Amino acid sequence: MTKSTLIRNIGTLVTNDPTLGEGPLGVIEGAALVLDGDRVAWAGPGADAPATDEAHDAEGRAVLPGFVDSHSHLVFAGDRTREFAARMSGRPYTAGGIRSTVAATRAASDAELGANLARYLHEALRQGTTTQETKSGYGLTPEQEARALRIAGEHTDEVTYLGAHIVAPEFADDPAGYVAQVTGPMLDACAPHARWVDVFCEQGAFDGDQARAILTAGRAKGLTPRIHANQLSYGPGVQLGVELGAASADHCTHLTDADVDALAQGDTVATLLPGCEFSTRAVYPDARRLLDAGATVALSTDCNPGSSFTSSMPFCIAVAVREMGMTPDEAVWGATAGGARALRREDVGRLSPGAYADLLLLDAPSHVHLAYRPGVPLTAAVWRRGVREV
Ligand SMILES: [Zn+2]
Repeated sequence: MTKSTLIRNIGTLVTNDPTLGEGPLGVIEGAALVLDGDRVAWAGPGADAPATDEAHDAEGRAVLPGFVDSHSHLVFAGDRTREFAARMSGRPYTAGGIRSTVAATRAASDAELGANLARYLHEALRQGTTTQETKSGYGLTPEQEARALRIAGEHTDEVTYLGAHIVAPEFADDPAGYVAQVTGPMLDACAPHARWVDVFCEQGAFDGDQARAILTAGRAKGLTPRIHANQLSYGPGVQLGVELGAASADHCTHLTDADVDALAQGDTVATLLPGCEFSTRAVYPDARRLLDAGATVALSTDCNPGSSFTSSMPFCIAVAVREMGMTPDEAVWGATAGGARALRREDVGRLSPGAYADLLLLDAPSHVHLAYRPGVPLTAAVWRRGVREV
């Protein structure tokens, strides 16, 4: 028998199940939630709650699904503080800064990389993130990329092969040779350790033809595509991602009307990464335009040591509401159910029966406070798989 726990006296419960409550977020006021083992067993009005083994009094606080951060780069070593400071003094961001992290990551031991990853996953958990995708991309050799994915897999199920982050320094004069490596021996070494294949489709990284070759090769090895698309400039990435059935096109900062239409009509989620524009002092993506067109919009941190060194989903929600035209409800949905959609997961990002008991108790009466009180540590408690972790 598993142990059941009642969380009662919830001020506002976000279920993300419209059949259970108000609006797309399925909001229930004065709610209760029952956890049974690692799953949600029941959600509804407090007065109707069933008997359980244990009870926790939420004292009128808000409860929402744990955040699903569908895009991060956490297998790395080194530090790029000086690069950030230089950028804030006026130097522009380019994809080339990745090379300094590659050198530091290659030189680090497995233990150092694992400890660094665990540290950032815990940092994210303390802010309410209960599902975290992470990528390789700072090794850029078959051995180093496979090592990064192996280490990532010790900490999360959502592991992405990003050998095509930038062209490895050894292939600086032979990008075609590097693509052959990424789609050949490196893919063979990495495919057993990953669920997803990703490519940075951008000027200075990989063009549309190279990205197509990389994602197609990954798909043939059983990996599902996702793509870094249209971050720094207009380009073919978004439409390529939709065409190849990518789960998500990430960044989506520079979009034509045809790009927006493709996202609205396809199954590919538009994942927006406001920490990146914040940290590179760039123009934010227009979430409103995507939402009004009917696209599915997710929010994610893109946590990495170069362009977005934040693990905070609440920060991303606040920026998305203030700067990208999202309502608080849309931003909270994007950071929970939207992230789950971007990872093609049904078992996270919602708090309805059968889902994992991954949830965040806020030190606030409503999820809206995530945007209303920017920068304030609102985490009162976090349960992951039914276990209280924070
Ligand atoms: Zn990224």
